[in-house]
Amino acid sequence: MHHHMSLLRDLQALDHYIDRLRQEVAELDSGERIREKIERSRRRLEEVKARYQEIHATATDQELRLQDLGERIRRAEADLYSGRITNPRELQLLQHEIEQAKQSREAMEVEMLRIWERMETMKHDIDEAERDLQYAERVYQAHVEDYNQRKAALESEIAFHLGERAELAAQIDPDVLARYEQLRQRLGGTAVAVVEQKACSVCHTLLTPYILKRLQNEDALIACESCGRLLYDPMLAE
Ligand SMILES: [Zn+2]
Repeated sequence: MHHHMSLLRDLQALDHYIDRLRQEVAELDSGERIREKIERSRRRLEEVKARYQEIHATATDQELRLQDLGERIRRAEADLYSGRITNPRELQLLQHEIEQAKQSREAMEVEMLRIWERMETMKHDIDEAERDLQYAERVYQAHVEDYNQRKAALESEIAFHLGERAELAAQIDPDVLARYEQLRQRLGGTAVAVVEQKACSVCHTLLTPYILKRLQNEDALIACESCGRLLYDPMLAE
């Protein structure tokens, strides 16, 4: 049994090593947060673009109305100076209408300028946001490549050690191995403790003379009475 315990201790060292490698894989930053940030920026950009399109549509509409108004003013003025209308009241009315139309055209032109300025600013913001996004995207791609490389390296290292583990496990009695696996799962990955100055190396409880004697004499798996881990005494001869 001592021989099996010696193998189990080696197996545990290997398992701990593989556990650490797996932990490293789990702790690798896949770039999820960068991705989320990019997606948020992209959504914001899409919103700004949609608003820009709305304003653009408003501007087009406004331009058409301005053209329309200009045409109406032109026709009214042609009417006014055609000499066709002779009634002074009618002429006065027409003149008044033209005056009003010109005033509203002026107001529309001011509004138009304001819209164009706003569009100019938005266009600038959109261009800048797009450049920022492209840059962030490149940073993300580089990060992902790096992540994939690190992950692949760790995974191939894990695969290599799993091969070693299989060879080692094949040398251990199946019942002993099963007990080890069970304890390892239940006790946070550590199923084997070493006897160190008559104490359990994991929970540090002093082992009773009875347990120490059993370790020496019995061909059985002996567990620490306190933490339940299988005991291995390196001082005992193979
Ligand atoms: Zn213990």
